[in-house]
Amino acid sequence: MARYKEPAPIKDHLNPLDSMMERFSEAAQKLGLDESMYNALKSPEKTVAVSLPVTMDDGKIHVFEGYRVVHSANLGPSKGGIRYSMSVTLDEVKALAAWMTWKCAVVGIPYGGAKGGIKCEPRNMSAGELERLTRAYTCAMADVFGPEKDIPAPDMGTNQQTMAWIMDEYSKIKGVSSPAVVTGKPLVLGGSLGRIEATGRGVMVSARSAMGKLKMNPSKVSAAVQGFGNVGSISAKLLEQQGVKIVAISDISGGYYNPKGIDIEEAINYTTTNKGTLEGFEKADKISNEELLELDVEVLVPAAMEDQITVKNADRIKAKLIVEGANGPTASNADQILNDKGIMIIPDILANAGGVTVSYFEWVQNRLGYFWTEERVNRRADRIMKQAFESVYEASIKYNVNMRIAAYIVAIDKVAKTMELRGTF
Ligand code: GLU
Repeated sequence: MARYKEPAPIKDHLNPLDSMMERFSEAAQKLGLDESMYNALKSPEKTVAVSLPVTMDDGKIHVFEGYRVVHSANLGPSKGGIRYSMSVTLDEVKALAAWMTWKCAVVGIPYGGAKGGIKCEPRNMSAGELERLTRAYTCAMADVFGPEKDIPAPDMGTNQQTMAWIMDEYSKIKGVSSPAVVTGKPLVLGGSLGRIEATGRGVMVSARSAMGKLKMNPSKVSAAVQGFGNVGSISAKLLEQQGVKIVAISDISGGYYNPKGIDIEEAINYTTTNKGTLEGFEKADKISNEELLELDVEVLVPAAMEDQITVKNADRIKAKLIVEGANGPTASNADQILNDKGIMIIPDILANAGGVTVSYFEWVQNRLGYFWTEERVNRRADRIMKQAFESVYEASIKYNVNMRIAAYIVAIDKVAKTMELRGTF
C-alpha cells in the first residue's frame, strides 16, 4: 500500500459561512428578529476540534484535523452529517451546522443542527485507514454524540459503512447497543428503507412542487444535474421518471451532455462498473462542469458542493428553476443577479431536506424497535416535503421575498420562538 499523501488544500474557496450569515441576517431583518435573539442564533452552541493520530497502512502516523459543531439544540438533539473532504475547514463545518438547524426547522422535525468534518481525501485511503480514522473520531466525540444529544449521518465522502463503524465504536464505548446514535446505517444494522434515496427523492418532490407553481410541464422540460454522487444520481433518476429530459450530468471527471437526453439508469450502471465515475461515458459529449451550469435548460440541479454558482457565472445561467441538491451551491454574492433574472431557486435548506427527514424516521424506528415499509417512509417523507414547500412559498408571498429568504424566515421564526419559550440563563 502506497504511503498516504495528503493533497494540497483547496484554494480560492469562498467562505460558505459568509454566505450563510448574509442570508441569515437578511431574513432576520425581514422577520424583525430581536437583536439579542439574532446574537444568540448567529454563533454555534458548541465547537469541538480534535487532532486524530491514525496509523496508516505503511506504519507511519498521520494526524488528521476533525471537527464537530453543534449550531443549535433548541428544537431537539442536534442532527447532521459528517464530511470527509479536503475542503473541510472549521468555517465550512460551522456553516453546514447552521444550515442543518435551518433545514430541520423548515421541514418541522424535532432536531437542532450540527455537522462534522475531517480534512482528508477518502479516495486516497484504504478501507482499513478509513475505519481507523472513523473509530478515532468517534472515540474523540463519544461525549458529544448520543441518541438524545447529537446524531451524525453521512455527507460528502462518507457512507453507510462509515455509519456502521461509528455505531459500533460508540456502542462499544458506552457498553450498550446504540443504533439510534447515527442514521444512514446499512439496513441490517437498523437503517431505514428509503434513506439512501431520500435526499434525491426530496429534490424531485421539491422540483415538482416548483414546476407546478411555474406552470412547467415536467415532460416538456429539460434539466442539467451537477454531481453524480448519491444526491445527483438519484435526483436525476427520479426526475427522469417524472418525464423530465436530463440532458447533462457531471462528476469529478467532468460534464456529459446529450441534447436528446441521457438514460440515467444506464449512466448509474456505467459508474458502478467504472470505479464509481462517469469517466469515459460515451453516450454524451464531454463538457466541463462550468459549461453544464450554463446550459440552455429549464431546470438546473446543483448537487455537487458549495459555491458552484457565484458572481462569476451567475449572469450566464439560463435555467428558470434551480433546485439545490447540494448544501450551499450558490454563493450569496450571486443571489442578487439570479433574483434580477427572475430565476426561482428552491434553496438547499428546503430542497435537500428529504435526507434528514428520513434520518428522523430512521431514528424513530430505532427507538421504537419497529420498522416501516418503504412505501410508508416515502409517503410520509413526500408529505413533509410538500408541506414544507407550501409553507415556504406562503412566507415568500407574505414577506415579499424569494424562496431562499422565505425558507430562512420560516426556520428562524421557529427556532427563535422555541428559544424564547425555553428561556436562557
Ligand atoms: N448530510 C445530510 C444533509 O446535509 C443528511 C444529514 C442527516 O441526515 O442528518 O442534509
